[in-house]
Amino acid sequence: MSVSTAAADRTAHCDTDTSGSLPVLGRDVTVPLVTGGEVTYAALDYAASAPALQRVWDDVAAYAPYYGSVHRGAGYLSQLSTDLFENARRTVAEFLDCRADDEVVFTRSTTDSLNLLAAALPADCQVFVFETEHHASLLPWQDARVTYLNAPRTPGEAVATLEKALAGRDPYGPALVCVTGASNVTGELWPVRELAAAAHAHGARIVLDAAQLAPHHPVSVQELDVDWVAFSGHKLYAPFGSGVLAGRFDWLREADPYLAGGGASKKVSRRTDGGVDVEWHESAARHEAGSPNVIGAYSIASACKALTEAGFDTLVAREQQLVGRVRQGLAEVPEVRVLSLFGDDAPRVGVISFVVEGWNSSHFAAALSAEYGIGVRDGLFCAHPLVRTLLGSDPQSQGECGAPEAAPGEKSLNAIRVSFGVGT
Ligand code: PLP
Repeated sequence: MSVSTAAADRTAHCDTDTSGSLPVLGRDVTVPLVTGGEVTYAALDYAASAPALQRVWDDVAAYAPYYGSVHRGAGYLSQLSTDLFENARRTVAEFLDCRADDEVVFTRSTTDSLNLLAAALPADCQVFVFETEHHASLLPWQDARVTYLNAPRTPGEAVATLEKALAGRDPYGPALVCVTGASNVTGELWPVRELAAAAHAHGARIVLDAAQLAPHHPVSVQELDVDWVAFSGHKLYAPFGSGVLAGRFDWLREADPYLAGGGASKKVSRRTDGGVDVEWHESAARHEAGSPNVIGAYSIASACKALTEAGFDTLVAREQQLVGRVRQGLAEVPEVRVLSLFGDDAPRVGVISFVVEGWNSSHFAAALSAEYGIGVRDGLFCAHPLVRTLLGSDPQSQGECGAPEAAPGEKSLNAIRVSFGVGT
């Protein structure tokens, strides 16, 4: 098989039906091809970073001349920015259907959000996490008593595996389960509600890594009954640099501020012994020390509003058509093997990984870009244990993101991922 077969008739795959789509930046970007000439770039790496919505860009441009420091000034622009920042919090809380007493903390990203929660775990907390997680949700718990659960092969097995692990836990101490809503490798949806029920039945809490779920599906904290949700702005059609941790605040209120500094502190006074006493805020500001990323928070809120107004029913319906078309196209190529944990019928978002027999995945991805202007991702997608399990490669093998690949005839060490969403 040649790359040209894979990329054949790109235009036939471009959707002319724009219902369920939203304008994004960069749709008209042209890129040079090694073969000469130019082509309109096909961005199929939304799972890494999605293009920003035009609406987000317009909202930011309208606000940019007026921005000022938040919570710090009596001036009109400071007041305006403070209002917009705090309104952004409310918009995100509505978007996630949070409980009335939940807090929305603005962070830098999903990674930052999960590390914040990890830093706020109560003493002796046990953490349960599947080995299939993205490194952002797999790794922050190293300082806790963490149990890594083996990759399940069905959603039911995921629930049963968690139940079993929780049944054997110390029943009196605090415990946390961390699970992703949609895999950044297979796009498959995880049984979040059932996992949350299992966690709560055993007195544990649960945090949902919604980095890949929130851009593709409505996320309701209340319906899923999760304790926290984390996601990133740059995957939700907002620019880089902002993220969210939303949910219960009791553990976060008890914890030391994530960063010490202005904004997190309510009152600071010198002690007679020469030291300093600090009274920290008891709201989200406790973990938002320093001048916050106001434009980042504002962009996330703008994206939340745009997605809500467009309606997830319509967005999901269109994306599922695209998922079907891509999977069908790949199924027609005998050399292609699509990676899946839960099987062909598992519900999934627009994230699909595969290998092509006889091809080095990194070369294949490079050729798609250089010869056809199609941007995909290759590698292990920051989910090394999962991708190695799916490839059937030795868990100790050294396949890396973008590294040289298996020799001809050997099993692939890397994979190729296409991912898309609104604006595709
Ligand atoms: N969780 C999942 C499922 C992801 O796919 C990613 C990024 O790809 C992350 C967490 C980390 O997101 P960020 O890099 O924005 O922190």
